[in-house]
Formats: sequence, C-alpha cells, structure tokens
Amino acid sequence: MISSTSTDSDELQNCTTFDDVRHLFEGVPERLLSRQYPWDNSGLQLNCHNNPITGITLCLDITTKVLSHARNQGHNLIISHHPIIFTPLKSISNTTTLGKILIDAIRNNINILSYHTNLDLADYSLADYILDKVGLPTGTIYEHAGVSPLYTKGETPPLTTTHTNTKGTVAGTPYGLGRVVDLPTDMTIQEIQKLFETMSSDTTTPKHNFRHNVPQCRNDENKLPNGRKPLSPNSTFRRLAVIPGAGFSSWEQCLNMDVNVDILVSGDLKHHEALDAKHAGIALLDIGHEYGEIPYLYHLQKLLATKLSLPSSVVEEQTISQR
Ligand SMILES: [Zn+2]
Repeated sequence: MISSTSTDSDELQNCTTFDDVRHLFEGVPERLLSRQYPWDNSGLQLNCHNNPITGITLCLDITTKVLSHARNQGHNLIISHHPIIFTPLKSISNTTTLGKILIDAIRNNINILSYHTNLDLADYSLADYILDKVGLPTGTIYEHAGVSPLYTKGETPPLTTTHTNTKGTVAGTPYGLGRVVDLPTDMTIQEIQKLFETMSSDTTTPKHNFRHNVPQCRNDENKLPNGRKPLSPNSTFRRLAVIPGAGFSSWEQCLNMDVNVDILVSGDLKHHEALDAKHAGIALLDIGHEYGEIPYLYHLQKLLATKLSLPSSVVEEQTISQR
C-alpha cells in the first residue's frame, strides 16, 4: 500500500537539502548519537548528493519495491525505520540484494537515512503512538535509556524531541524504551487483543495473527516464586507495557517492582521467552513486528509535512505472510 502527499510550493520544495532533513531529525551535529542505542546504526546510510530534495519515500525496510517506488515518484530521499546498513560492510557487490539496492540507489542519486531506535526513544515514541491509537492514556517509561541533552537557543533539537521550556531550551528529560500504562479496568487477554486490533484502521498492513502465552486451560501451579499468580484462562491484567517491534527480550523488566507490569505487548515472540515469562506469571502478547511499527510511519509523514513542503509517500510492504 502506498500513501502519498504532494505539494504546490516549488519555492520551499527546491530549497530543502539532504543536510536540512538530517538536521531536522538529528539536531546539531554533536547530538547525532544522543538518542539511539550504542549498538544501533541510525542516521546516515547513503549520501549521494546534497542537492535539493525532490520527495521522500518512507518505509519500514528498504527493498527493491521501495527503491523502484522512489525512482518512479522522482523522490531522491528514502527514510527507513530499519537501517539498511546495520553491521559494517566489507564489500558491496551486485550479487547480493543489499549490494544491488545500494548500487541502484547510488546510480539513481537517491540518498538514504534511517531512524530506528531514535523513534523508540523519542519523546513521542512508537509506543506512545500505539497507546494513542488504542485510546489508552500516556504511559511512563518501561526501561530508561538516558537523559536528553539540553538544547539552547540557536540549536535545533531533533524533530522527535518535544520538551521545550519557556526559555526556548529543551529540558534534559529522561527517555527510554516502551511505555507502561494502567488499563481503565481489569481486562482478560481476549479483551486486550480486541483493544489492539483497533489500530488496524490506520494501516493496510493486515492485522497480525495475535499470539500470546496465556494458557487455554487451567494450570496446576498454585503460586510462583515471585509471589505472582500463575497465568490461567481466567487471568485478568491491569498494568500493561508496550514495546513496538521486537521487545520481548526485555520481558524480565516486567518483574521490576518499579514498573510491576502484568502483560507486555510487542512483536516477534519466541518460544523460550514465552515459556520463561509464563513460568514467571507474565503474559506476553505478540501483535506483530510490522503491525506495531508501520503505523508510526504515517505519523512521521505528518510530522515532516509540518516542517517541509515536499511530496512524500509511505510504502507498506508485508514481509511475513499470515495464514
Ligand atoms: Zn523494528
């Protein structure tokens, strides 16, 4: 599915450079790495030129479909959520898909930027967006990652940083991964699934075949070592955490008494994580990696439209087929 916007303002369209767009996302150069995990490779992926930007294609992953869309639309910038270059490259060859995409992008003068954990750690993050979409209140941080630097007048804070005080500086606020929120009432796993299904109006990405680790029949365990009740078909949940993408590796943080979460919503559930969490009395609900992250691309498109007068498209692509 492709969603596009266009603009009539040739004047603005013709004066936005690649560096301007980077500046919007990353703020002043020395802050470049301020909001991504050290293992990440967000930001610059491919810089072919600093000519005026003709249009922006937004996507989750850069594929041949995304590249040909950008080419056909005359867009010379692609912004992806997942970095196309994640581990250091020792060679670029047209015998690999990655090599072909990079060579094709260079031949067609298409720049590439990626904003990955920056969006997880943004003030208004992927998790905040999902909570908004399902009608839950603003949550608190699930896993703290750092404190944002102070931006003074004259410096440009990143597009996804929103805390501005009256003196025109951005306060040094804590940021982190995922959000924790109390549900308005105790809810069963079925009710929580229904709640997250309501997001689907935003995207043509099919609703993921939700999976969870709550047993379908009664469990024998009477109590768990951590004082929690074993999960059962009648279990209800009150405190929920959400990490869009693949966040289940952080499930043990649910047991931290500071957050004390009953159910974690994320994607890409693995067998052993599901089992270990079940043994600890923590419910894990898998809403799918794509379903959790693609809707935010539309938010990013709107955010960019408030700052730049440029045509843009969101390209949705389903990598994993559902039954
Ligand atoms: Zn992801």
